[in-house]
Amino acid sequence: MTDTTRTVRRTSVVTEPMVLAFDVTVAAVQDLGPTFRRITFSGACLAGFGVAGAPLDLRIKIVIPPAGRPGPDLASMLRDGEGSWYQRWLDLAVEERGTMRTYTVRTSRCDGPRPELDVDFVLHLDDDGRGGPAAEWAASATPGDRVCIIGPNAAAAQCATAGAYGGIEFRPGLAQHVLLAGDETAVPAISAILEALPEHVGGHAFLEVPSARDVQPIATRSSVAIRWLPRGGAGHGEALDAAVRDAVRVPGWVSLAGAGTVGGGSEPEEVDIDRTILWETPQLHEATLPATARPAGTQPFYAWIAGEAAVVRGLRRYLVRDVGVDRRQVAFMGYWRKGRTELP
Ligand SMILES: Cc1cc2nc3c(=O)[nH]c(=O)nc-3n(C[C@H](O)[C@H](O)[C@H](O)COP(=O)(O)OP(=O)(O)OC[C@H]3O[C@@H](n4cnc5c(N)ncnc54)[C@H](O)[C@@H]3O)c2cc1C
Repeated sequence: MTDTTRTVRRTSVVTEPMVLAFDVTVAAVQDLGPTFRRITFSGACLAGFGVAGAPLDLRIKIVIPPAGRPGPDLASMLRDGEGSWYQRWLDLAVEERGTMRTYTVRTSRCDGPRPELDVDFVLHLDDDGRGGPAAEWAASATPGDRVCIIGPNAAAAQCATAGAYGGIEFRPGLAQHVLLAGDETAVPAISAILEALPEHVGGHAFLEVPSARDVQPIATRSSVAIRWLPRGGAGHGEALDAAVRDAVRVPGWVSLAGAGTVGGGSEPEEVDIDRTILWETPQLHEATLPATARPAGTQPFYAWIAGEAAVVRGLRRYLVRDVGVDRRQVAFMGYWRKGRTELP
């Protein structure tokens, strides 16, 4: 019997962080209409920003530094220290930490020679030019201004040992009929989703905006019917609510697929939208019901709904309770709440 020596090779697994802080500069500012202002951010560090595939409704955090100060060193806060970086940021003095808000990447060119991101800001300002800190910042932004973006690490997107970045909610699975509905804050996400949808996907996209001058061209290969809903003098969400009810009639979401009926569904549990965020999104594996769970002759359906929380809550009740849509087929997201700031 020979004596054998087993060599145990110790390999250290380097796990890429999923999220990084990117110090970026405003490269360009472009008004897209009375409501939207596109801000292009650039910076060599953005070469490390990205997800695998299209950004879809990719969300990021934008940290606007306090006036006249550089803002916190978020790169170090994300890299070093115990526990959550977000809590460490919250623990900073208000005049030191700046303002953090959530936005969508409208377009990413981070894999190009000059890495850039476009973000479309809604300028929700009163007649005196006052609004939230992010809207006010966007309204006065000029090239050279600096912010910090917290977003996905491109290296982690390619790395088998890293988890998935949690900032994309649009997960239609194999759905061939989609319903996309949102107010102006969801326009960047819906536009990016439509640009990425393939030919065989149909359905409806409803985008409610303050004015007809906010309508923008959207290129899509899909056969989704895009309808802009200028609000005019109507209340926030009224046009969106009516359009969704018209497209998805009771009984039966299957009207989108053009056949059959289903009955009403269960009462969704109440969400106190003034205390919590309305955020109900199915997981990837749940996003499309198996064929056996669908009424005969219908095709997989998926809905994505975002905007002011009370409007989204109303549509959630309608779709889940009245129409009977399975909650595994709908993402409901309160992007903002009337009368409440996003963060302390
Ligand atoms: C995942 C996600 C993605 C988002 N993507 C975008 C995006 O791409 N573009 C975009 O513009 N917004 C987007 N939003 C919404 C944005 O984060 C909020 O509108 C945010 O409140 C703006 O911050 P603020 O500092 O301007 O206002 P805050 O300080 O948060 O709020 C101040 C006041 O303004 C009100 N308010 C906030 N937003 C609006 C609004 N749009 N219209 C009218 N009143 C408002 C609040 O109710 C509050 O009374 C997104 C939100 C989420 C959760």
